[in-house]
Amino acid sequence: MKNQYLIDLLERVKARNAGEPEFHQAVEEVLESLEPVVEKNPKYIESGVIEMLVEPERVIKFRVPWVDDNGKVQVNRGFRVQFNSAIGPYKGGLRFHPSVYEGIIKFLGFEQIFKNSLTGLPIGGGKGGSDFDPKGKSDAEVMRFCQSFMTELSKHIGADTDVPAGDIGVGGREIGYMFGQYKRLKNEFVGVLTGKGLTYGGSLARTEATGYGLCYFTDEMLRDNGKSFKGAKVVISGSGNVAIYATQKATQLGATVIALSDSNGYIVDEKGVDLDAVKEIKEVKRGRIKEYLNYHPEAKYVDGGCVWEVKCDIALPCATQNEINEESAKKLVANGCFAVAEGANMPSTPEAIHVFQKNGVLFGPAKAANAGGVATSALEMSQNSQRYSWTFEEVDAKLKDIMVNIYHNSAKAAEEYGMKGNLVAGANIAGFLKVANSMLAYGVC
Ligand code: NDP
Repeated sequence: MKNQYLIDLLERVKARNAGEPEFHQAVEEVLESLEPVVEKNPKYIESGVIEMLVEPERVIKFRVPWVDDNGKVQVNRGFRVQFNSAIGPYKGGLRFHPSVYEGIIKFLGFEQIFKNSLTGLPIGGGKGGSDFDPKGKSDAEVMRFCQSFMTELSKHIGADTDVPAGDIGVGGREIGYMFGQYKRLKNEFVGVLTGKGLTYGGSLARTEATGYGLCYFTDEMLRDNGKSFKGAKVVISGSGNVAIYATQKATQLGATVIALSDSNGYIVDEKGVDLDAVKEIKEVKRGRIKEYLNYHPEAKYVDGGCVWEVKCDIALPCATQNEINEESAKKLVANGCFAVAEGANMPSTPEAIHVFQKNGVLFGPAKAANAGGVATSALEMSQNSQRYSWTFEEVDAKLKDIMVNIYHNSAKAAEEYGMKGNLVAGANIAGFLKVANSMLAYGVC
């Protein structure tokens, strides 16, 4: 980065948000991409828009007390970062994972601003969560935690204010408990959460949306570069919501998904992963990926290994942030991988992205590639407002259109600012312009 204003701003962000490296990383990547934009349009500097953009509108941090099955009081921390509402109500998931702290939620909320803008839908950026770990907890414990969490969160959200959804550790079960508690506290039935069950206002295709959307985006990126999923070997990290539906769609598009992982290790099944088995292990039993061997003893399980050492043509990281470092990126390149698209948020470190770009690997950044989840959440909001439901095919067709448009808008923005083929820059620029121009219209506020 050479622009002195952006360099100084980044230093201020780092000093003001000390001890939050993930947030610094997310801001740095966006500011780097904006360099050609501010050089051409000094108004974004003069108006203070970028300075306002890197500061959340509101950070809410609260105590979440609950009682475990042994009658013991447990206390967790809850967060909601309402980052930017320039183009619509705050929108973004809730993450329940022991690694959650303010810096993680800020990085995710910041990314969400640009991602939501890219969808073309009227949604601002936010994110929330807790350091609560649902793993190993009984349903009753998860319910008591979710009710306590929502008792405080309900004071800050609303169908036209802030509409949370799921993320790591928050699926249909957790959304159900939280929606039930909101309804009870407020005595109103409104679309205040997305990812709801189909019997109480959920949208068809929301469960599949992030994974499917990732593959629609990747398919378009491949097509635009004379390549395809057909016949390709794909490695996917994680085995949660995003990974499962990415596996399903990639397989439908003609690829063979040969590996999946969880935080304990990874499995390899060269004839193609049996998704029914994975769904039973993960969605029904809430078990570990190594249990795949109970269904397919001929498959391989590597305990504690790094899934990126498996040879593949296409890699879809769908687990967590910074899961592909420089070394893993080099390994992927050496093994002939020609495309990487991010289902998880910020799964590649800046050094890894550099390796991909230097070696001509097609690279779809998270903001663009995984926007299908939030886009479909916004479609759930539309259906809730209309008190009407669309069919699976209708939602899926809209999702596909949105993902194809995101690819082309990102590619076009990159080209316009002299960075043809750089979708990281293109997604950041295209996402920024809509938000920044709205903020310009509002003046200083
Ligand atoms: P899930 O909780 O359903 O699944 C997460 C998966 O990733 C699990 O297999 C989990 O393994 C693995 N994982 C999580 N943390 C780690 C870690 N530190 N190291 C290794 N593996 C890990 O979450 P989702 O599938 O919903 O989310 C996955 C990613 O996609 C996240 O980055 C999320 O922000 C992003 N995303 C999700 C969207 C959605 O609609 N759900 C939308 C857009 C982005 P284990 O069970 O062992 O922890």
